[in-house]
Amino acid sequence: MPELPEIASRAREMDKELTGKTITKVEVLQPKCLNVSPKKFKSALEGAKLLGTTYHGKWIFTDTTKGYLLINMGMGGELLLVDSKSMPEKWRIAFHFKDRTTLAVNFWWFGYTHYAAASKLDKHTMSAKLGPNVIDVALAEFRELLSKRKGAVKSFLLNQERIAGIGNAYVHDILFLAGLHPLRTIDTFTDDEVEALWNGIQKGLKPSLRRRGAFYERDLYGKRGGFKMKDILVGYREGKPCPSCGEKVVKIKTGSTASFICPKCQPLKQKKGTGKKVVKKVVKKEGAKKPKKSAAKKKTPARKSETGKPVKRRAASKKKRG
Ligand SMILES: [Zn+2]
Repeated sequence: MPELPEIASRAREMDKELTGKTITKVEVLQPKCLNVSPKKFKSALEGAKLLGTTYHGKWIFTDTTKGYLLINMGMGGELLLVDSKSMPEKWRIAFHFKDRTTLAVNFWWFGYTHYAAASKLDKHTMSAKLGPNVIDVALAEFRELLSKRKGAVKSFLLNQERIAGIGNAYVHDILFLAGLHPLRTIDTFTDDEVEALWNGIQKGLKPSLRRRGAFYERDLYGKRGGFKMKDILVGYREGKPCPSCGEKVVKIKTGSTASFICPKCQPLKQKKGTGKKVVKKVVKKEGAKKPKKSAAKKKTPARKSETGKPVKRRAASKKKRG
């Protein structure tokens, strides 16, 4: 599934290659990918000139003179820029340009190509609810986002309404880099652990972002991403040695998803002496009852706006130019 490194890379490539092109014809082979009728979709975008492409979470936004084209690759697929005469074997939606090139969109399973008028972009519910792009969140803002949360850290990272861009591929290495068990609950984190998680996100996503995403996805030119299987630290490496301590990586069940962890580097119980407070009771399940903590909360007050109200997360970083 494409996540932030892949989506940000595709947005960057589209911004570079497609800006300035004019759509002359739109072809739709799979109408259920659209949010409007094929007729409306075509009339909305045919004749539009592309102004730039950005991304937010797993959505790609292309601004045009006639409104926005929004693409979500779902479980994966290809966005290929080709000569209009040599279309790829598989495609579901095609945008033909005046210069005889085509953006061919294919979904392996299911994805979305939506249209939103510029004035109605905020009403596009699937993207309007997204939290800030995870890679753009500063440490102070990240502390604020976590300060109100209690659940398991993995669930938080995967919840696109909290922070957008992380999925099931990168989450394992992010938690490993942070030294955190996926079931650790956020309200047990020390300040140092919050910082470790923030660093883990940066270190877990940036190497792939620099290499145009993971090997299992293709770029706009059909070339595979440069982030290889060997670059993955613990994710999908069950039984292999931990790159840090040598202990065998294990696959564990965490709620409805599986997680890959090093049991030594990512203990469920907080290590003694590493933080300001020690978890008294090991919480084994998400949502299990745990003692309330109030004193620790006051150490990191939420950032307040000038009006005294907490700053809304959406105000932070909406869309980022790829
Ligand atoms: Zn280890």
